[in-house]
Amino acid sequence: MTYVSDGRGTDASRPAAAADSHAEMVAIEHEAAERVANVLVVALPLAAVVVAGWLAWGGSLHWHDLLVLGITYLFTGMGITVGFHRLFTHRSFETTRALRVAFAVLGSMAVEGPLLEWVSTHRKHHRYSDRSGDPHSPHAERAPGWRGALRGLAHAHVGWMFRGQDVANPRRYAKDLLADRDLRFISRAFPLWVLASLALPFGLGVALAGSLLGGLTGLLWGGAVRIFLLHHATFSINSLCHFFGRRSFTTGDESRNLAWLAPITFGEAWHNNHHAFPTSARHGLGRLQPDPGAWLIGGLERCRLAWSVVRVRPEHQRAKRIAGAA
Ligand SMILES: [Zn+2]
Ligand SMILES: [Zn+2]
Repeated sequence: MTYVSDGRGTDASRPAAAADSHAEMVAIEHEAAERVANVLVVALPLAAVVVAGWLAWGGSLHWHDLLVLGITYLFTGMGITVGFHRLFTHRSFETTRALRVAFAVLGSMAVEGPLLEWVSTHRKHHRYSDRSGDPHSPHAERAPGWRGALRGLAHAHVGWMFRGQDVANPRRYAKDLLADRDLRFISRAFPLWVLASLALPFGLGVALAGSLLGGLTGLLWGGAVRIFLLHHATFSINSLCHFFGRRSFTTGDESRNLAWLAPITFGEAWHNNHHAFPTSARHGLGRLQPDPGAWLIGGLERCRLAWSVVRVRPEHQRAKRIAGAA
């Protein structure tokens, strides 16, 4: 077991000094097309949830639909937290080339944007955390009063995706990933993984129900409804986890731990812990803080499929702990 502590807490989330000559942001190449795609990606799953709810109300929800939903949510959700976030953004552990590729593809299938863009945006979030320059803070440049608070939350949840004409520059924020040919290809081939993300639940539905109709309801529940649920679970980390919940560590930002959100985000909602120790593979640092993402990394480590797993020494945790906090 390797103890590679990050007592300072921000090293892997900071881009290499050599990249500092590059611009913070780059223009979105096809701005209008991307804006339309963003609207569709957020609005279509919402419409599908309404249809799925109406069908379920009418008694047309089957066990195989829920199974397809559960399987696709688990795999793509782990692709985001263990793959995009802990492995690629923060380098919390190392793994085999095959698993890097698998995590990159599974994370892409969550339909939260191409790998390089996701990682660059998130590293920028850590760099500026709730200050001007943070891509999705509910606090930075917020207007006063409850209206300002609501607007800040809406901006952090989904609004930020529709406003920008530019995105965090991968040449500055994800130089390490750009150097990897496999990851460059996977990031560029994002539309392919979106199709795969829909084909998989369709195929699973056909296989489990033995009918084309089973494939279509599988596509509805394991495709659109799953994308909706996982999107808003992830978006809630950006909005709710910088607004509501408890703080265990001093971090210089507004990040918070939101216990009820932790199980459905596979541990992501221990977000104050994460901002205190960004490279830690485990986000649920307390005894009563379940962290399924960390369990998966631990399982891979036991099978010798993960190594150099970053853990935070107890003394470093004590040094940042807020007096009297859980
Ligand atoms: Zn955050
Ligand atoms: Zn992070």
